[in-house]
Parts: sequence; C-alpha cells; structure tokens
Amino acid sequence: MQAKVNRCSIKNGALESSRERFCKLQVLALGLALVGSGCQSAVPPASLAPSAQPAVAETNPDIARTQSEMLSKDGISLVWRTDVPHPGYCAYTVPSSGDAGAVAVFAGKVEEEMGKYSRSALTAMHLTRIAIYENLAVQGQPRAAMPDPDSGTLFLDYKLGDDDDAYQRHVIHHELFHYMMGVLHNDMQFHDSAWAGLNLPGFQYGNGGVNQRESSSAVLDHPMTGFVDGYAESAQEEDMAEIEACRLVRSEDKLLEGWMAKDSVLRSKYLRLLEILKPLGVQ
Ligand SMILES: [Zn+2]
Repeated sequence: MQAKVNRCSIKNGALESSRERFCKLQVLALGLALVGSGCQSAVPPASLAPSAQPAVAETNPDIARTQSEMLSKDGISLVWRTDVPHPGYCAYTVPSSGDAGAVAVFAGKVEEEMGKYSRSALTAMHLTRIAIYENLAVQGQPRAAMPDPDSGTLFLDYKLGDDDDAYQRHVIHHELFHYMMGVLHNDMQFHDSAWAGLNLPGFQYGNGGVNQRESSSAVLDHPMTGFVDGYAESAQEEDMAEIEACRLVRSEDKLLEGWMAKDSVLRSKYLRLLEILKPLGVQ
C-alpha cells in the first residue's frame, strides 16, 4: 500500500495538495488548506526548449500516442521534463525510461479524464501542460497533485496512489477545480457567497483541509446532509472540489446521484457548482 497521505494546500502562496485514500475501503481524504493569497490569473506559458524532455515516450509507443492525441484534441502537452516552470516550493523527480510502462498507464488515465472537458473549456482555463512526475512534494511533503494556474500547468504524481484507480482520477478533477478557481477568481480557495447558505442551519466548516488528516474523513460515505465525505466538511473549497470530483469520476458519480436523490442540499450544491463553473464552459 502506498503512503496514504498527499495533500493540497496553499500556504503563504505555496500550494500543497493533500489527500488520503485507502483503496479497498473506498476511503479518501484530500486536503487543501489554502492560507494566504491565491494565485495569479493564468497566462499562456512560455515555450520550452526542445531538448529537455527525458526519453520516456521514445521507449513506449503508447505514451507517444497519448501525447500526440492530447495535444491534438485538448491542446495540452504531457511533459515530464526538468525545466517546467514551477513554484520554488515544489519538488519532483522526473520518471526514468525504465518506468515508461507506469507512465503510459497513468497518461492513459489522464487522457480519459481530461477528455471530460471540452476543448473550449480547457482553452478558457489556459491549461496547456500536464506535468507527470514522481516524488512530487510541496514544502517537503508528498503530494498527488499541484495545480499551478500561473504557469498553466497541472502537476501530477503518477506513482502516488497507483494502486487505486479511482483515487488517481479523483485527484485530477479535485485539483483541477482548485486550478479553475484560481483562473476565475485569482483565488484557489475561492468561497462562493451563495454556497454557505445551502448548508443546513448552524453548520460550520472545519479548519481547512490541511488540518483534516483523519483517514475516516476520506470515506465517500455521505456522512451528513449535504456532504459526500467528512473531508468536504473541512472547508468550503474542499466541499466544492469533492463534489466536482465525484461528479466526474465514473463509479463515484453513481454514488453522488444516489445521495442527491434523497438529499436536496447536496442536489442544490451540485447545481450551484455547475453555475460556478459555467463561465469556463465546464459542464
Ligand atoms: Zn483540495
């Protein structure tokens, strides 16, 4: 079993990405504690030198195919190069050619999940790179993902959680939601004024994702009216990101639909989420 912790949070401008998941028990916990300022509006990234990409795709034709198809369909470059612009608090290891098989499997997941966004939506969010690494870390802590709207890049760790397919797919959408709020509102911990009013009277969020480390909070179990898991109760931005991920991950969407059939609060949040994402054309 992999280490079960990877979290996302922004601290003094640094974004961490946190999530725990116990695969067999359908346990998951992501943490995004966004402290301090958000991010700058996304701008088209600068072009990169042609020679800095380690030879991974060359050793696996599936990777080369996925790269080509994603660039053509989505306008997104899959990269694992050493010179991708990234915040100084982020660290990673580029995959070796010997790990091309694992990268190919992960790249296939990325292609499938990104295929759930229209080309126009991806263009609107200025997402032009998905950087695939291992040992992704923020301020020394392991992370499954790190969204960086400033560089138009979503950083992903292809090894963390690789024993749990749904988890890795969930992370992509969860983190991309934070990324999109950075693009739309210059604040990855954006709080929607109407959202809090959808919760039951008296409900108050916790202390943010970074403080929500108990594995039990990661279970997709609809622990109370309006929430898909305990982690969502930690902060409004995590509540929104968790619903967004469940909405888009096959198998989790069925859970969500079932809960919404009996939970009008969750249904209202789902509909509000679509409104929030509408400016980017995300459906
Ligand atoms: Zn998060």
